[in-house]
Parts: sequence; C-alpha cells; structure tokens
Amino acid sequence: MPLGKSLATWCQEYPLIEELVALRPLSWFNPGIAPAAEALGDVGLSQADVDAASARLARFAPYIARAFPETAGSGGIIESSLVALPHLQALLTERHDLSLDGALWLKQDSHLPISGSIKARGGIYEVLKHAEDLALAEGLLRLDDDYATLDSDAARAFFGRHKIAVGSTGNLGLSIGIISARLGFQATVHMSADARQWKKDKLRAHGVEVVEYACDYSVAVAEGRKQASADPFCHFIDDENSPDLFLGYAVAAERLKAQLAAAGIRVDAEHPLFVYLPCGVGGGPGGVAFGLKLAFGDAVHCLFAEPTHSPCMLLGVYSGLHDEVAVQDFGIDNLTAADGLAVGRPSGFVGRAMQRLIDGYYTVSDEELFRLLALLQSSEGLRLEPSALAGVPGMLQVLGEQQGYRQRLGLTPERLARATHLVWATGGSMVPETEMSAYLARGQALLQAERQ
Ligand SMILES: *Cc1c(COP(=O)(O)O)cnc(C)c1O
Repeated sequence: MPLGKSLATWCQEYPLIEELVALRPLSWFNPGIAPAAEALGDVGLSQADVDAASARLARFAPYIARAFPETAGSGGIIESSLVALPHLQALLTERHDLSLDGALWLKQDSHLPISGSIKARGGIYEVLKHAEDLALAEGLLRLDDDYATLDSDAARAFFGRHKIAVGSTGNLGLSIGIISARLGFQATVHMSADARQWKKDKLRAHGVEVVEYACDYSVAVAEGRKQASADPFCHFIDDENSPDLFLGYAVAAERLKAQLAAAGIRVDAEHPLFVYLPCGVGGGPGGVAFGLKLAFGDAVHCLFAEPTHSPCMLLGVYSGLHDEVAVQDFGIDNLTAADGLAVGRPSGFVGRAMQRLIDGYYTVSDEELFRLLALLQSSEGLRLEPSALAGVPGMLQVLGEQQGYRQRLGLTPERLARATHLVWATGGSMVPETEMSAYLARGQALLQAERQ
C-alpha cells in the first residue's frame, strides 16, 4: 500500500477510496474550490501565455491549410463545431427520471481535422512550437514570414535532422506522429498496451516508428523519456509535465467563447456553463479548463470524468498525493475500453495547478460508456469512441448530487434552469467502421439487457 499505510487506514482517512477500489461509479465535488481570481495564480501560466499560443497557431495557419487541405475551409485553424443534443437530453431525462433543466450541448473535438481527437489541439501545438523554435534559430524562418514556406523540401530536409518522440495510449501518438511526419521530423511513438491496432497501423502508414509495450501508459512514457534524453536531437513531448501541450489545449476556450456567443448562449453568474471533460493524464482537460477559467471566471464549472478502472486524477487530487500515487497501488487495474483514459498515474503538474479550479470529478463504468455510445448514435446520429462518452453523465451528476455542492456555489434552481451543460467529445471520427459497428453492437446489447 502507498506510503506504508494499510488499505483499512487509507479508507478510514479517505472514505471514497473504498468505493474507488470496489469500482463503484461515484462523484466527488471538490471542497477546495476557490474563486478563479484567486486560484488562477496557482497555475504558473497566464492569459498572456494563452494569447501567445493562439498567435502562434495563427502564424502556422497558412502552413496547416496547405499541408492539410481538409482545414482550408477554416483557413488552417484546427477547430471543431458545437452542436445541441436535444434528443439525447430527452432520452436521459426519461431514463434517469430527472428533470434536466438547462440545455445539453456537445463540443465535437471528436471531429477535429488531422487526427480526430482533442490531441489535435495540444499535441499538434507543441510540435509546431518546436518546429518554429528550430526554424527561427536556424534562420530558416522569420516571425513575419508566410509559414506555408515550411511545406518545402528544404524545410523537410532541415527538420529531418531532428527527432520527436512521445509516449501515448493512442491518440496523442496519432496527432504528434502525423504532424511530425508531415513537417519532415523523424517521429517515434511509444505505445502502451491499450493502444488500438488501427492507430498503430495508421501511424506506420505515415512513416512513423511505433514502439509497442506490453505495459501501461506510464511505462511507455518513462521508456520514451529515457530513450529521448540520451539524444540531443530528440525532443520528447512529455504529456505528464508539458506546459506547451497544456497551452495548446487552453486556446480552445477563446474559440468556444466565440461559438457560444454566435449561438446566442449567455454565460455569466445567472447563466452558468458546466463543462464535462474526459480525463486521462490530465493535460487535455486541464488545459481546456484553464482556458475556460480565464475566459469565463466563476461562471464556468469544470468537471473531470474518468473510467471506474482508471480514476487516477480523482485519486490524486482527493488524497492530495497527486502523481505520488497510482491507481494500481490500490489494486485498481487500469484496464478499460476507454483507451484514451487508460492512465493509472495523473500528471502532478495538472493536478496541483488546477486543484482549486475544478469543481468535481466522477467515474463511469465501461458498460455505461458503451450504452451511452449507442444512445448518442440512436438519438443524435453521432458516433464517438468510448472515452469520449465519459462527459455525457456529467449533467446527471450535477443535478442529482447530494453533497451540498450546488448550494455551496449558489447554483439555485433558477440559475440551473438557465444553465448550459457542455459535453466535451474528445475523439471518435477516425475509428474504422468495423470497430465502430462492434462498439455500437456492444452498447445496444447492454441497453437491451438494461430494459429487461
Ligand atoms: C487523451 C484523451 C483524453 C484525455 O486527455 P488527457 O490529456 O490524457 O487527460 C480524453 N479522451 C480522448 C479520446 C483522448 O484521446
């Protein structure tokens, strides 16, 4: 047991650990939440850093538009759409016998161009930043150049002398591998055992080296980090500790703010916005939540969602041990079909930086992820990978909670009636058809069993 204490002692001091170990779905609303104005200072990054990341993405837009023609319509800006889920909301209302006030929406990062997951934000951003740093230092590029010139044999020959490496459960490797290979870098992805075969195949087809491990994500990251540190020409993208990845994700918030305004959705104290973010190691949801807190302050409420078999961030924040503890230390197996969330040890950077800014955490069983996958398809015609469904039950957690959370934060019935609940759909558009059919069949079978 961690820190030399028995499980019984842990459970006595931290009663939720018993529930976590029993793999029971649960929610925990953070008693340490603080006003954004105060807690944003914990992060060590600021609005100016997010603005710089946003400006960098704008500089690269002409390159992205040229290298990835599917982004030409948005001028090389990698962004996803916002859609309402009225039919799913009606279905959930009926299934859970709750009156679901407010409106349920979906942020479709599942359909982000280039790599079909939220990793097309942070992962691609960090590779672009590294490429820019190298090219500026080499005199190959000036800040006011048209970056489309990087789509040239000369630039590819230059980047080809450099390497990029990353450890991944699948999607981060996919996004970093694709953009790195397109720029000309030698890319290596260290894949954990959870990674789907099609993700490895796709990367190899792009000329990326894929190293496979029989172990979980933390081992793949540690191994990748070790190999890269021996090579001065190799940049290791460290998903457990990277401020650059984090900032790439954070840019999502200003884009969302514009989309909400365009849809006529108000966000302020009287019109709260709840955002439900599937969490693996924490960089993606942490970065997005950081941006949201900068953009909306206390009017936005962020909750992280994890599989019952991989509740690493909940465990780390709840126990205060952060990355000093892994779910496996408590005998939780970290085996889940939600491969994007199959992480046993959280990012210590994100857990500590964001611990006063995240309203709550909850867990979802794999079976429920599959049921929700089938429900979303039948109600709205939308298809996501299992990880990406974890945000869907968030609204039920908030409206059904009995921990005094809503009262504590002044979330009155009147305010909740005007609330927007946003599910962050983190991946799925690139899942092969046969794989998706199997997911849907499994979800439908589980729904059928539930009705009997
Ligand atoms: C990576 C990923 C997440 C979570 O992001 P982290 O940075 O690992 O917390 C959620 N959903 C999907 C589909 C992902 O690929």
